Amino acid sequence: MKKNKIAMATVLAMAFITVGCRKAQGNIQENIQENAQESTQETAAAPLTVIDDKYRTTYEIFVYSFYDSDDDGIGDLKGVIEKLDYINDGDDTTDTDLGCNQIWLMPISPSPTYHKYDVIDYKDIDPQYGALEDFDALVKACHDRGVNVIIDMVLNHTSSEHPWFVEASEFLREHDELTLEEAAEQCPFIDYYSFSEEKRTGYEPLPETDYFYEARFWSGMPDLNLDNEAVLGEISDITGFWLDHGVDGFRLDAVTSYYTGDDDANIKFMTWLNDTVKKQSPDAYIVAEAWVNSSTYHKYYNSGIDSFFDFDYSGSEGIIAGVARGTTPASKYAESLAATEAAISSINPEAVDAPFYTNHDMARSSGYYVGSGGSDKVKLSGALNLLMGGNAFIYYGEELGMKGSGKDENKRAPMFWSSDAGFEGMCDGPKDMDHFEMKYPALEEQQEDEYSIYNYYKNAIRLRNTYPVIARGTTTPVAEISDSSIGAFLRQGDAQALQGTADSLLIIFNTDKEAKEIDLSGASLADGYRNLVFQLNTAENSAIIEGDILTLPSYGIAVFTRE
Ligand code: CA
Repeated sequence: MKKNKIAMATVLAMAFITVGCRKAQGNIQENIQENAQESTQETAAAPLTVIDDKYRTTYEIFVYSFYDSDDDGIGDLKGVIEKLDYINDGDDTTDTDLGCNQIWLMPISPSPTYHKYDVIDYKDIDPQYGALEDFDALVKACHDRGVNVIIDMVLNHTSSEHPWFVEASEFLREHDELTLEEAAEQCPFIDYYSFSEEKRTGYEPLPETDYFYEARFWSGMPDLNLDNEAVLGEISDITGFWLDHGVDGFRLDAVTSYYTGDDDANIKFMTWLNDTVKKQSPDAYIVAEAWVNSSTYHKYYNSGIDSFFDFDYSGSEGIIAGVARGTTPASKYAESLAATEAAISSINPEAVDAPFYTNHDMARSSGYYVGSGGSDKVKLSGALNLLMGGNAFIYYGEELGMKGSGKDENKRAPMFWSSDAGFEGMCDGPKDMDHFEMKYPALEEQQEDEYSIYNYYKNAIRLRNTYPVIARGTTTPVAEISDSSIGAFLRQGDAQALQGTADSLLIIFNTDKEAKEIDLSGASLADGYRNLVFQLNTAENSAIIEGDILTLPSYGIAVFTRE
């Protein structure tokens, strides 16, 4: 971690100057060199403490656009295997990987669409992505590195080309002499879906018949009938199948649509699903997508599902972007976190928040900030996501500041490994994607730039991996030193669960375009926190602590332990 070593050396050297002033001036240079050397050795030797639990750093991968192993322009599972070293090389002593320790694969099962959120066969791999053997090899390669694998589970609907729906529709077409009830008795797949003789909200006409069927997203995605025991049996088989193939859990798609408009029914179904999966594998992890108000997805924690994506903090209008932009007071960040943590743990003490900043349905963050300081804000906002408790998610390419907005295809552009058109493994991306120039350089270039978005993200993940209390602790705002542009908070956890690592941190960030001087003596909660152990900076300047006075660079983040 080149940047970090330099930052640490600077901090230690500066601290030494303060002390060293009492010594002969001639020794200062020598001491700085000595300390720089020492701190470099210390940093190199400092082990990461990656605890094997549900509090992870998860990298969301759209396989189609990630890495292409066989030169057909479409990303595939072998491509993900080839690029695992980028995500995590399994060696905690190296600093050439991002350090994420879980991947979420967007749907990988056979599907007629490029995004594959409409499944044809839940127990197979789409041929564009490879075969089950490739999946098994990927899971093994991940586990060898301490990386868990979760896969997308699209249970609200199937593809209209799924054999269940094809059989049901054909039966109805061929037997117009029967009532719907009579037909369902003869063809069990009819009750896998919700057919009706009348047009209802969210229903589509079934061509060549007088029937309608529920399809909340579009006609190509018929909703499954989750009240049907046979469908529940199929779902249990499907989750068991993938757990047998080694997955560590699931990401549930569109859970508010299970029973549209009926939260109690959604909670009841998710309770069944959570119980079913945990019976199959007690340690399995489940995160669900409920793209609604937090008052609703907080309530969903009653289901026992481990995590719900924390939409409050995400996207261009979320808390993270607001704080980074300066339109939301910096003090609001920790206040919100404390409220979120209290709300979800009061419903389920085992709840694991699932912070994320962007995903495949949202415009990428490089477009959120106009004017000067854009890249600083992209970096700072990435860190604000990674400084949240729980299991933090990063959408592939955000660590490069990739661009993409407007139609969905643009948000799922090829991973920007290189700006060289002939770069091996580069994907073509979705067919209907617009052609646009990226705003920030490709990975190859960013790797060489100490202050790139990529290197910043890598440091932020390293911070998260060095101090497990960040993901596992609770937040207490330090109000006295927080204001519109300074956010300050404690993150405290259980010492035993943290395996001997720091159980308490003071974290301070600056969203202003100017450096700030902060007097820590003004806040009793900050008493004793004077060890500046880590910092994240968007440019060359470093944070400095002299006595009680912290000088925090523009967009800088400083992390303290107690003396
Ligand atoms: Ca391919």
